[in-house]
Amino acid sequence: AKENGRNQMCFYTPAFSTHLVQNFNRVNQLRKAIEREEFELHYQPQVDAIHHKVTGVEALLRWKSSEFGMIAPSDFIPLAEENGLIVPISDWVLKEACRQLKKWQRQGLPSFTMSVNISAQHFQIQQFSKWVKKVLAEIGVAPSSICLEITESTAIQNMTYSREMMQELVDCGIRFAIDDFGTGHSSLMLLRRLPLHNVKIDKSFVSDMTGDDRDAGTIVKAVIAMSHSLGLSVIAEGVETKEQLLQLKNLNCDYIQGYLIGRPMSAEQFEDFLAAKQTE
Ligand code: C2E
Ligand code: CA
Ligand code: CA
Ligand code: CA
Repeated sequence: AKENGRNQMCFYTPAFSTHLVQNFNRVNQLRKAIEREEFELHYQPQVDAIHHKVTGVEALLRWKSSEFGMIAPSDFIPLAEENGLIVPISDWVLKEACRQLKKWQRQGLPSFTMSVNISAQHFQIQQFSKWVKKVLAEIGVAPSSICLEITESTAIQNMTYSREMMQELVDCGIRFAIDDFGTGHSSLMLLRRLPLHNVKIDKSFVSDMTGDDRDAGTIVKAVIAMSHSLGLSVIAEGVETKEQLLQLKNLNCDYIQGYLIGRPMSAEQFEDFLAAKQTE
């Protein structure tokens, strides 16, 4: 059987087997990343559209792999989801985000919300709400200072479950944002049926808005009006130009996030960013 196995290897094209080795290697590296402290959270500011005061940050995961260098979350989160590694990674993310927020509160920084991305796989585990409550209690951060971001596709996998679990967390003060809004298929129904606080308009609409695509602007306008009439706040993501900012302001968008305001940055850089803003 061993002989056979070895022979079979010869049928793979070199490129494919290289890919296989790399992938196996990547999973192993990912497995060890937490203990090697190769993960880092970066924080991107969210500001109110009128005064540009910081109202929150979104925690964004970075993997500085000793073997492969910097790896984008879009390259390793799907891998982590396939291999069951998303649970320990998410556990680290929420804990680290809470620890950092607590540290900032202790330093006397003005209060703001910490937003954390939740993966579909992790959201679906039965103990999800228990786990969130436990982490917050252990670290000692107020649930009202945490916002969990979930995408439309995550929420619709099991609507009854999503709604009940979110409600349980909302009842203890946690907030929810629907991420990448407008890219899914059931957007309107979700806004009505889930206990949400914020709608994050996907950056594709924001970038199209100021181009030739008049429809993008119309959609953004409608999403903002509709969200407001349902009592939800709107965050525009991926705001890169002053023109986009101005248009969003005119459409009564509540909050702005994007490179125009600030890129995702390390905790130290964010402290400097805040300090610079306060002297503005
Ligand atoms: P997302 O949640 O939609 O995060 C926003 C992404 O847009 C981030 O990419 C951010 O760096 C980028 N971005 C922010 N402002 C601008 C802008 O003005 N222009 C452009 N072009 N891009 C902007 P990033 O950090 O590469 O993250 C990509 C995705 O990976 C996130 O999309 C999220 O789905 C996922 N992700 C990141 N961190 C975590 C995490 O801790 N847990 C989970 N489950 N997913 C995460
Ligand atoms: Ca997000
Ligand atoms: Ca998003
Ligand atoms: Ca996205």
